[in-house]
Amino acid sequence: MPDTIRDILLAFVRVHILHHAVSERIYGSGMAEELARHGYKLSPGTLYPLLHRLEEEGLLVSESEVVKGKVRRYYTATASGKRALKAVQPRLAELLSEALPEKPTHATRHPK
Ligand SMILES: [Zn+2]
Repeated sequence: MPDTIRDILLAFVRVHILHHAVSERIYGSGMAEELARHGYKLSPGTLYPLLHRLEEEGLLVSESEVVKGKVRRYYTATASGKRALKAVQPRLAELLSEALPEKPTHATRHPK
């Protein structure tokens, strides 16, 4: 995949991660499944550094918990993370209304 497209898609993934981390606790493998559902196939070698960087940047905060005998790292959005998502949302809406040939509708997303 060309670097430019990869960069753009990774930015979408970051928005996606923030969106989920604002409304719930997320963790790596669960997020990988959620992103796969949306058509993003990310290796752990891509996803985990992305989560770490969002934490380093202060947008996410993490805590470890033992789940079924394994340590799981849960992430949630910080106040900065919530502000970042709010800052992106109007631009995202603007971009969607302009850059797509037609507005996404329920019908186009779930063709019969
Ligand atoms: Zn999602």
